[in-house]
Amino acid sequence: MIDIGVNLSSKRFKGDIGEVLTRAREAGVQQMVLTGTSLDESQLVIDICDEYAEQFPAMLFATCGIHPHDASSFNNESLAALRDLSTHPQVVAIGEAGLDFNRNLSSAKQQEVAFEAQLELAAELQMPVFLHERDAAKRQLEILNSYRDAFSEGVIHCFTGDEKTLFSYLDMDLHIGITGWVCDERRGLELKGLVKNIPLERLLIETDSPYLLPRNMHPVPKDRRNEPAFLPFVLSGIADARKETPEEIKSATSANAARFFKLPVAD
Ligand SMILES: [Zn+2]
Repeated sequence: MIDIGVNLSSKRFKGDIGEVLTRAREAGVQQMVLTGTSLDESQLVIDICDEYAEQFPAMLFATCGIHPHDASSFNNESLAALRDLSTHPQVVAIGEAGLDFNRNLSSAKQQEVAFEAQLELAAELQMPVFLHERDAAKRQLEILNSYRDAFSEGVIHCFTGDEKTLFSYLDMDLHIGITGWVCDERRGLELKGLVKNIPLERLLIETDSPYLLPRNMHPVPKDRRNEPAFLPFVLSGIADARKETPEEIKSATSANAARFFKLPVAD
C-alpha cells in the first residue's frame, strides 16, 4: 500500500516518528508521500525524508507547496523557494495547492494567486500537483480548467465533494484521493455512495494522518491520532463501498500511486 497523504511534520508526531514508520511498514504501507503545506512545513517533511532515509529506504517522499490556509504568506520569494525545494530528490509533487473557502484563513484573492502560481510551477517542472479543495469547487474547477493543458497530472486529495464535482474532476483527467472520511457513518455517507464511480485506475488512498481517524476502527486509539499504519481501515472502507475486495483496491492503488508520483520500486 502507498499512503499518498501523511502530515508527518505535525506536532502530534513529534517524538515517535520512528515508531510510526515501523508500525506503518508492519501494516503493509511500503511507501508514503508526506504533505508540505507551507514553506516551513515543506522543508520539515523533506528533512524527515532525509533523516529516516537510511532506516527506511525508498519509503518516504514529499510534496512541497503552500496550502490555501497559508496563501496570505505567498509572494515571489516563496515561489523561488518552492522551486528550490522541488529539486530535492524526494520531492515528487507540488502542493498542497488549491482553494479552501470553508475557513477562509487567507482571502479568496490570496488563495487564487498562490494556487495559480503553483499550477504554473508544476507545469514548468512537469511535476504532478497535489490538490486541496474545500467548499470551493466552482472556482477551483474554473482555475484548473484554464491550466489543465499545461500541467501533467493532478490528484484531488481527500475528496469529500458531491457527485457533480466528482464527475467534473474526472472529466479533467484528475486522480482522486480518498481518506477515512469514507468510513464515517455520519458525514461520509454521500462519499460512500460516490466512490464506486471513480475508475479504479484513478483512485489513490491516504490517511491524511494525524487527522481523520477512520471510524471503522475498534477500539479507537486513546489519543485519537490517525497514523499511516491505519491505512488498511481506509482501504477496507473503500472496498466495502465499491463491493470489491481489499486485495483489488490494494494492488490497483499501489500501482496508481507509483505511476502518478514516479516512485522507485519499494524495498
Ligand atoms: Zn488538504
